[in-house]
Amino acid sequence: MNLRCVECGKVLPPEMLYECDDCGGILEVIHPNGVETDGALQTSMWRYSKKLPVRSPDHIVSLYEGMTPMHRALRMEQSLSGFRGIVYIKDETTNPTGSFKDRLVSVAISRAQELGCNGIICASSGNAGASAAAYAAKVGLKAIIVAPSHTPIEKLTQISGYGATVVLIDGHYSHSYRFAERLAKEFNYVNVTTTYLNPYGTDGLKTVGYELYEQTGGEIPDYVFVPVGSGPLVKGVYQGFQEALRESGDARKGIPKIIAVQAAGCSPIVKAFYSGDMEVTAWDQPATIASGISDPLIGYEKDGTYTLRLIRESGGGAVSVTDHEIRNAMRILAQSEGVLAEPTGACSLAGFIKMQQNHRISQDSKVVCMVTGHGYKDFKVYREMSPVVHQLKSPDDTESIRQLLCLSPD
Ligand SMILES: [Zn+2]
Repeated sequence: MNLRCVECGKVLPPEMLYECDDCGGILEVIHPNGVETDGALQTSMWRYSKKLPVRSPDHIVSLYEGMTPMHRALRMEQSLSGFRGIVYIKDETTNPTGSFKDRLVSVAISRAQELGCNGIICASSGNAGASAAAYAAKVGLKAIIVAPSHTPIEKLTQISGYGATVVLIDGHYSHSYRFAERLAKEFNYVNVTTTYLNPYGTDGLKTVGYELYEQTGGEIPDYVFVPVGSGPLVKGVYQGFQEALRESGDARKGIPKIIAVQAAGCSPIVKAFYSGDMEVTAWDQPATIASGISDPLIGYEKDGTYTLRLIRESGGGAVSVTDHEIRNAMRILAQSEGVLAEPTGACSLAGFIKMQQNHRISQDSKVVCMVTGHGYKDFKVYREMSPVVHQLKSPDDTESIRQLLCLSPD
């Protein structure tokens, strides 16, 4: 196992490193040489442990993450005018702390244990922080979570519920990112921030690609829609598919086109994609209900640039969605498919619907939407979407219910 810079190709030893010492580039894991696992771990993403960068089974920290369900969204398919294809929901809300971040954090903390670790730090808009706090609790590590002051209260409650120290910083996510970096250096804690910063954590996300390959029975989807902040999940889908195809001798098939979905109020990668730019520039003032991807990338624009490169290499694209379109997708997911997603998690579906309605994808496409985080994590938006709760005046009042359901009297 080694680390390699995705920019200059320099190979570095598999230590706790966060960037290339020559060019400052993002690091990735190569030849991870993992271990065989058995028993209950086979029901989690650790069934791919041989491909993951943890060398001893004793160091694996797992709450049985991954191996999430993939549903066919039949009712929604039928409701889309002109659409003749197939839509799958990859439901990452069923992970132990309710988001896909558990995959990344499980690997990052396992590897941190292996390399020796005093404690962990995570800059987070909420989900990664909840994940880091839970996995740190599982092994008794100190955890400091740095989050923007406007982080949804449900996420902050979840994080402190796991016993982590929560530090709030005013301003957008990039302020939290920088403060966490500083703390990690000062305390000599491992930084498990879930941008591309921790190469071992990022490597854990490729398990999504393996699972999608298996769950589609080798029938490669045409498109995978991914909600994107800085974008490591794009790498996960890309790399997982690429490796699964290579290992199964299917390499001719080619990976799916990956579509990065960002909120219109914070879409630096989408902007660069449509401008034809090779590099992403930071976003000024993020403004969106999708707090999980409200990342202006200030100071680590290179993360966005790398994601942009992967999207183009996959033959895919990018789309931004308004808060109104996100709310609509949340409603459809919940009311047509039984999946309660937070705003960020529903962005993938919002992006798909937008591209389908604008005829930017073929009407017989096979599509996967990554639903990345649970609705429990951000209830404010659901509360504002006119909840239907009725208070009865009397316990005998069945007539009111009949009227509510628009049923005629017997
Ligand atoms: Zn480099």
